[in-house]
Amino acid sequence: MSTAERYAEFGISEKVQKTGEEILSGLSACFDTIDRNAEDNQLRVIRAMQDAHVGEASLLGTTGYGYDDIGREGLEKTYAHYFRTEDALVRPQITCGTHALALALMSNLRPGDELLSASGRPYDTLEEVIGIRPSRGSLAEYGIAYRQADLSPDGSMSFENIRNAMTPKTKIVEIQRSRGYLSRPSFSVKEIGETIAFVRSLRPDVTVMVDNCYGEFTETAEPSEVGADMIVGSLIKNPGGGLAPTGGYIAGTKECVENAACRLTSPGLGKEVGATLGILPQLFEGFFLAPVATASALKGAVFAAAMYERLGFEVFPASTSERHDITQAITFRLPELEVAFCQGIQSASPVDSFVTPQPDDMPGYDSKVVMAAGAFVSGSTLELSADGPLREPYTVYFQGGLTWPHAKLGVLKSVQNLLDHAYIKL
Ligand SMILES: *Cc1c(COP(=O)(O)O)cnc(C)c1O
Repeated sequence: MSTAERYAEFGISEKVQKTGEEILSGLSACFDTIDRNAEDNQLRVIRAMQDAHVGEASLLGTTGYGYDDIGREGLEKTYAHYFRTEDALVRPQITCGTHALALALMSNLRPGDELLSASGRPYDTLEEVIGIRPSRGSLAEYGIAYRQADLSPDGSMSFENIRNAMTPKTKIVEIQRSRGYLSRPSFSVKEIGETIAFVRSLRPDVTVMVDNCYGEFTETAEPSEVGADMIVGSLIKNPGGGLAPTGGYIAGTKECVENAACRLTSPGLGKEVGATLGILPQLFEGFFLAPVATASALKGAVFAAAMYERLGFEVFPASTSERHDITQAITFRLPELEVAFCQGIQSASPVDSFVTPQPDDMPGYDSKVVMAAGAFVSGSTLELSADGPLREPYTVYFQGGLTWPHAKLGVLKSVQNLLDHAYIKL
């Protein structure tokens, strides 16, 4: 059976296949750059594991208190080597990205300190961590104030707004690399470095934290190489490589990481406790696979952007934009198209392909939400996934794809589904 016949088995018409191939022929230079970055990052990951002296015994894991867990120590050394930081905290006890960010902030701020966001409005879930939306246990409840430097009209970080928002009490400056659900560009490591240099010119002693979620491995440098004191992310996104079943990380200076460890476990215990149970093989192997998995997701995002540009939809970022995270927004203007897109993505999944996503209410959202996620790890967004609120302008956020062929199939299925409903013409 030919590959074309296999696609036909998935219901993908010759026309959709042909359009896909035409689009792809224009993306070879872009894909080549993505592959070269992945090659560089793969070498760096292997180097980091070798330098951390990862051995077969590192994969065993511990139970109970988790004292002397050489695997855990090797994993944290691996992250520290890769990110070029003094230390790292990489734990299954960190439940998600929001938890990792909350931990980094709560452990490195004290009552009376101020937190300053240099990249405008932070990711939605941080609003409750900070107390922008009143919430139990927020930083605000502990007497930690928040200030925000809004972005410039073109979406870049505004040095003037940062200078105006900085006070003698500013203790942490936060920069978010990915754009989350906002329509602003993601920030390159270079731009982040320039902002950090500016912040230090005002206040050399301030701590800079980067929300690195969705950004890891998308470039050949990380924010910790351009002056960030700590970078924070989730293992069910890029650095987990699709294999990590749970976890989060904080990589940075000894001081920042020790503060976080003493808050995660307990003062006096710090990094010394925390059983890894049986999941070290997945955490190591996931990190090993992460550069190529991230590259696959990037290719999927570029392919989706180019495909939906061709079909006349607004996409963000554009297919030709430089990318510093793995997310892709597509605006459909009509709810039924948004839903049909997600149903197409779902139908390409290895898991739950027989499920038809329907819009529904979600805690924390003021409109119905539709999601496609046929993932091995529940909620993993390095795996092929899409979601969006059912409200104007009906924008769907698409990301992930552990392998490029799967991402390609997902995009083709989404187009086919729109075509089958006569929502688009080819
Ligand atoms: C996903 C994400 C978070 C939160 O991570 P969760 O694992 O969903 O809690 C924070 N910031 C950014 C930029 C993200 O993309």
